[in-house]
Amino acid sequence: MTNISELKTMLLEEKSRLEKELTGVGHKSPDLAGDWDPSAPDLNNTTTDPNEVADSIEAFEGSVAIEVELEARMMEIDAALVRIEAEVYGVCRICGEVIEDARLHANPAASTCIAHREE
Ligand SMILES: [Zn+2]
Repeated sequence: MTNISELKTMLLEEKSRLEKELTGVGHKSPDLAGDWDPSAPDLNNTTTDPNEVADSIEAFEGSVAIEVELEARMMEIDAALVRIEAEVYGVCRICGEVIEDARLHANPAASTCIAHREE
């Protein structure tokens, strides 16, 4: 029997960790709730040295990639929390079978059983 409240706690913990990490590379989108935008480097306060400007653009590109990855994971977590609320959590979206306990504990946001996992 899957312990949903335990998995929900895992999801909420990961969500708050992701929110902290997202705060480091981006900020909440003012237009769309739950969406995040990468923070642009503050080029005004940096030097006009082209090498340093290039460095900070490179750093920005790195944080965009991280931001996109964190946001994708955040969406998976939110979707799993929605499934818990809708009482359809822990069921494979491909075959409709109950997702293995071990799989949910490895990835509480999983929406498919082991046979149908995509990663
Ligand atoms: Zn399946």
